Amino acid sequence: MVYLVGAGPGDPALMTLKGQALLSSCGALVYDHLASRQFLEWVPSACRKIYVGKQAGHHSMKQDEINAVLVELALSGLTVVRLKGGDPFVFGRGGEEIQALEAHGIPYETVPGVTSAIAVPECAGIPVTHRGVSRSFHVITGHTRDGEDCLPPEFETYGSLPGTLVFLMGLGQLPAIAARLIEGGMAPDTPAAVIEKGTLPDQRTVRAPLSGIYAKVMEAGIGTPAIIVVGETASFDMKCDMKCRSFGPLAGYRIGMVGTRHFTDSLGHALKQEGAVVSPILEMKVISHAKCPAMQEAYRNLAAYTWLIFTSANGVRLFFQEMQQSGMDYRLLGHIKFAVIGDGTGRELANFGFHADYMPDSFCAEALARGLASILTDSDRILIARSKGGSPVLTSILETAGLVYDDIVLYQVEGRLVREQRQADTEEPGDAKLPVEEGVDYITFASASGVRAYLSSGLNINPGQRTGKTRLVCIGDITAGELKKHGIKADITAGTYHIQGLVQAIADDAISREAEGSASV
Ligand code: SAH
Repeated sequence: MVYLVGAGPGDPALMTLKGQALLSSCGALVYDHLASRQFLEWVPSACRKIYVGKQAGHHSMKQDEINAVLVELALSGLTVVRLKGGDPFVFGRGGEEIQALEAHGIPYETVPGVTSAIAVPECAGIPVTHRGVSRSFHVITGHTRDGEDCLPPEFETYGSLPGTLVFLMGLGQLPAIAARLIEGGMAPDTPAAVIEKGTLPDQRTVRAPLSGIYAKVMEAGIGTPAIIVVGETASFDMKCDMKCRSFGPLAGYRIGMVGTRHFTDSLGHALKQEGAVVSPILEMKVISHAKCPAMQEAYRNLAAYTWLIFTSANGVRLFFQEMQQSGMDYRLLGHIKFAVIGDGTGRELANFGFHADYMPDSFCAEALARGLASILTDSDRILIARSKGGSPVLTSILETAGLVYDDIVLYQVEGRLVREQRQADTEEPGDAKLPVEEGVDYITFASASGVRAYLSSGLNINPGQRTGKTRLVCIGDITAGELKKHGIKADITAGTYHIQGLVQAIADDAISREAEGSASV
């Protein structure tokens, strides 16, 4: 069985309940470029996901090949969802796929979707009909293979149509569309609008008279997907400010993230709730050194240590994982006291059944070291198990206090460009190209190692459209200090060391910038 399902215009919440139910139970999903990755999250984990859209630098899969994929999957007994943007029968080539299924006697059903032809103008405040103003609307392709200028034959005749004209796939032909409508008798001052990424958080609209719309589009740098609307209602703006609707303070902001996948998944989720468009830029990978001779020696000498210091949740996790994997008994730690740098590290320790004996009030290496220096004595033996390149402040303070410690590398963190990795992991080029090419308003850093990886990656990120530059956001002082070492000032330092604090700091920045009127919409 094959279901041709309309995904709606972009915002995943605009998919039908029936479509969502089919996604969440299908055995195979065949999709091309998706406006949102959310759809992929609705399918069961065992579902086969087959991407048939444009590959970076390659052409799309030919329609015959897509038809063959659908037929083969269905004949193998799977319930297949063929997901299409908008509605499957509006310029979606759904009909061709159905003909192929019929030729093989495969049962199918179509599930309508909200078409972008109506929804995208609507979300930009443009009604396609309005009593007394527009009594009809016409949905026209702006790109055909055989027409002159890639436009449908006798295109001029559309210039004499009453009502609202909606062009899909027309952005590349906009100058010809405008010129030929005017040739066909349409007044050059007829209102026109172009809407980019309609219904998505980074939706943009430009409006101008038909004769000037192309210049306006070029000036704004409007890209695809985009819809062109021509007619009296194109000048309507029937929406209130986006921010009083459900979009959140970060609507339209692009945020690049540097951090472990675990961290950027959580941060990304929280930022999306506020309306941001997020994308991991560098994925930090944690590489364990628990098996290295120095750490193994430390495990053998646990009886000699009186304090164990953790400066990160990663460190805690890797330390205990190694004990578990090599069959060490936790009672080896029975006599040891634990110090943690902050909340998150403390919570991870508690996950392994141990409660921290010491945590400083402010979560930084210096406070940790000063606190310990005031309660430990020279008869204590301290084990610091932490990441390579950890702050030297910690050890220098302990040393000055005359305390005896072993500072051992338990792991190191390395950055990997997300773009490279996405292409290696999945068939889909995905949105990994987004940050560099489309610009980023903010980049978030959650560790000094992330800052170092970013600076040495040679990445050249374009400035964001909302902020006009890329603002650097650090989770706390240590991370910001790492930027400073390289002569760069962090634009925002959150200082709360947790995800909600980081999100709040960015939202506050965006709100105050907009209040100053410095952000352009
Ligand atoms: N079946 C789809 C249309 C497919 S043709 C539907 O019913 O909506 C693809 C064209 O749709 C794009 O070139 C663009 O013109 C338009 N489009 C689709 N989604 C869009 C969006 N979110 N914003 C602007 N245009 C969109």
